[in-house]
Amino acid sequence: MPELPEVETTRKGLEPLIVNRQITSVHIYKKKLRWEIPAHLVDTLKNQTIKKISRRAKYLLIDFKDGQLVIHLGMSGSISVVPTSEPLKKHHHFELKLDNSMSMRFHDPRRFGSILWQRNNKQLNLLKNLGPEPLSDEFNDSSLFNLSTGKTKNIKAFIMDSNVVVGVGNIYASESLFLAGISPKRQAGKTSKNRYRILTKCIKKILSDAINNGGTTLNDFSNVDGEPGYFAQILSVYGRNNMPCNRCDGTIKRIVQNQRATYYCSKCQR
Ligand SMILES: [Zn+2]
Repeated sequence: MPELPEVETTRKGLEPLIVNRQITSVHIYKKKLRWEIPAHLVDTLKNQTIKKISRRAKYLLIDFKDGQLVIHLGMSGSISVVPTSEPLKKHHHFELKLDNSMSMRFHDPRRFGSILWQRNNKQLNLLKNLGPEPLSDEFNDSSLFNLSTGKTKNIKAFIMDSNVVVGVGNIYASESLFLAGISPKRQAGKTSKNRYRILTKCIKKILSDAINNGGTTLNDFSNVDGEPGYFAQILSVYGRNNMPCNRCDGTIKRIVQNQRATYYCSKCQR
């Protein structure tokens, strides 16, 4: 599943290919994704110019004069920019034809992704109440520690809560806790401020390293140019059940927390 680094990698890859380009036509091939693609986009976006592409949590935001296209990659979505003459594939559900004979295409075999429209000054509910971006200054040890007060849930579920901080998905939660030496089973409200200081740094480091490496690759995700991202070499615990810990002589374990797989070393994570 694309996580924040993959979405940021996609944003960076798309930026030089689509910004300042004019849309010549819009094509919806399969409207039923997680939600229906608004049919009015065919008219709304025609002849409009793409002003900017940004990211909020795992949403890509493409700016036009009157509003923003809000795209989520879901479980298996990817976006590519290819010559318009290239044949469509079975799972291409949406296409923006650009004024340079290129097309931005959305590909999503499992169709859990979404393409929505947000008018200027009318924020979609799903973008309201999101916590801070993990790489912003707003996300820091004090804010994290203060939010943890009285929380009885485990610390892994706590840092994966998008009201606390956005974009710390399952893989990066396990990896950040390993780097910080904190057990994923520890109670969020019983973790010291000093440990939150270390954890905050580790979350920022893990995510920025992953972005610099082009994100991880799972199943169907591929970079804008079709090259797979980097995966195994940057992961210390995720997917490494029963393998030796790379920091101590312990063994990586897999447990299930809140219906999600967690990987950790019970020896050096306390
Ligand atoms: Zn260890």
